[in-house]
Amino acid sequence: MNFRLIAWSCTLLAIAPSLLFPAWSGDTLTQVSTIGALLTGIYDGNTTLGSLKTRGDFGLGTVSGLNGEMVFLNDTFFRIDASGAVVVPDDTMRTPFAAVTFFHAADTVDLEPGLSMEAAEKKLDSLFPTLNIFYAVKITGSFETLRARSVPRQHPPYRPMQEAVKDQAVFKFTGIRGTVAGFRCPAYAGGITVAGWHLHFISDRRDRGGHVLDFTTGKCRAEIDGVRNFRLALPDDSAFNKADLSGNKTAIINKIER
Ligand SMILES: [Zn+2]
Repeated sequence: MNFRLIAWSCTLLAIAPSLLFPAWSGDTLTQVSTIGALLTGIYDGNTTLGSLKTRGDFGLGTVSGLNGEMVFLNDTFFRIDASGAVVVPDDTMRTPFAAVTFFHAADTVDLEPGLSMEAAEKKLDSLFPTLNIFYAVKITGSFETLRARSVPRQHPPYRPMQEAVKDQAVFKFTGIRGTVAGFRCPAYAGGITVAGWHLHFISDRRDRGGHVLDFTTGKCRAEIDGVRNFRLALPDDSAFNKADLSGNKTAIINKIER
């Protein structure tokens, strides 16, 4: 191959990725374990939060021992425990379930005040070009009301999540500013992840948060990032290897997570 041909090939390679993958569809959602595994009581993981920072700067999940809800925003993890306290966990903390991506807003939508969570989700659903891909969604602004929950730390032998959430703490906020962050996943991904919407919250002051149960919007803006690549990192431990993960758990997942 002569030099000119090599140079031309290199130029082609340099521009090819942007031709093949438009910026908004190049993101990858990386998920640790499955929601079905978490549901059965697999609450310890080997994946560190630090290692997840190489896979994203945005997302949600929980930490080992099901010790609170986790929000990942602008490359910082926040853990909200059952007392409602918010702490920034050490990068060495491990997670049994998390979903992360690098957030690049491809679109923004203003949400009018007074929308329920369900109405806001329906509005965004109607604006999405397809419901067959994953969306990372960040809703920032004020919320007239917001209800969030967290779960108390569990101790082995672990109970299924259906039992653990009976002890969940529910926090009710009014007139609060913050960010609702999470994912809208396609229905066919149920069992692997939460089908539909899964949202967590962190206040602007970084002192309140949790897994979102419902809200009423104040003045909010939603940023949307469509994600067409999904990477599933399954745990390499005996609890996961031995678990019975057969059967369709969508109904239970919806009851616990929605
Ligand atoms: Zn959650």
